Amino acid sequence: MRRVTIFGATGSIGQNTLNLIGRDPDAYDVVALTGGQNIAQLAKDAIAFKADVAVTAHSHLLNDLRQALAGSGVEAAAGPQALIDAAARPADWVMSSIVGSAGLAPGLTALQQGASLALANKESMVCAGPLMLSTAKAHGARILPVDSEHSAVFQALIGEDLDAIERVIITASGGAFRDWPLEDLAAATPEQAAQHPNWDMGQRITIDSASMFNKALELIETKEFFQIAPAKIEAVVHPESMIHALVGFQDGALMAHVGPPDMRHAIGFALHYPQRKALPVERLDLVSLGQLTFRPADEQRWPALRLAREVMATGGLAGAVFNAAKERALDGFLDRRIGFQQIASVVEEVLSRVSAQPGHIDAAITLDNVMHADHLARVRADEIMNK
Ligand code: NAD
Ligand code: MG
Repeated sequence: MRRVTIFGATGSIGQNTLNLIGRDPDAYDVVALTGGQNIAQLAKDAIAFKADVAVTAHSHLLNDLRQALAGSGVEAAAGPQALIDAAARPADWVMSSIVGSAGLAPGLTALQQGASLALANKESMVCAGPLMLSTAKAHGARILPVDSEHSAVFQALIGEDLDAIERVIITASGGAFRDWPLEDLAAATPEQAAQHPNWDMGQRITIDSASMFNKALELIETKEFFQIAPAKIEAVVHPESMIHALVGFQDGALMAHVGPPDMRHAIGFALHYPQRKALPVERLDLVSLGQLTFRPADEQRWPALRLAREVMATGGLAGAVFNAAKERALDGFLDRRIGFQQIASVVEEVLSRVSAQPGHIDAAITLDNVMHADHLARVRADEIMNK
């Protein structure tokens, strides 16, 4: 039996992961499931999957969780330290699917105990890529990408010589506003931004798809995960979301990963790696699909892409600042304190303010320094939004 833990079990990725595990329950021993405010879902799954422990990120919900688990034999825990403690429990495979930089510390702890870390939490790579890779290396742990584009690149690279890579092309659906006239974007609401044309995902990543901040994070994630020069990384808008990424080699060959937009493919690939096992995903009928189309990823329409290039060029803690500023600006958009297009302008302003303070961006990439840069970026974002 493989011991598995899922961080963010109540979310979109977490639920898809439980869906796959639930198809072969005898193969898995569930160690820990974690969630946030949705105590009913967390308790229901923890009981159904016979987890050793269920953890909510919110300390004040401990009693609610205890009550929901009463008599089940599942232990209840709460708060940020309880998340770390859950990550320190031995497990063979750990899904990192908390949203935001809050996923970094539990993921690092899981790597320290040598687990294979299935990484949906792209923020970890954006904020602390070198630290994630060095921690995995030091503890003989493996990181498997779960972002669909990065799973696609990973699969296209199996058996290949990394020196032969000429370019990596990450596709983007274009999100909710891809067909909107530019002048209408100023009035876009959170509800409109949260309607994804192809993928069914959590609210925050769906809005990040509309602003293209999701793709911006993914460009940085590509650089960090695969150690590829930024100049070799491209984004292209592909409205059908059937090709997830392509890798171009120096002989001109392009290897594409093609499949329906269903995260259970990338999750299942990471769950069964290095084997390929049957997955309950739709099989594509190319003839009924008819055609696949592509458009440029316009940096005028999506300034997040330009900012990602700047972050990749700067390196250091710029990724942590960029991500935290984006998280805070997204909160501001959700609270209707700023408009849709201001998300990017707030992030740009935070980057320039923090860069102007010596010693912040170029500090060593340790967990403490990343969390400090994250905090500072949030404070700056609030100052800008409260002006
Ligand atoms: P979601 O909002 O559906 O779920 C997030 C999970 O994290 C929930 O369990 C929630 O309780 C928990 N959580 C939220 N804030 C937390 C905090 N501060 N501390 C601890 N736990 C917290 O999000 P999602 O769509 O499942 O995305 C999860 C991660 O996977 C994100 O990093 C996202 O970018 C990435 N991802 C998601 C998809 C997708 O299809 N949903 C695809 C690619 C990558
Ligand atoms: Mg993705």
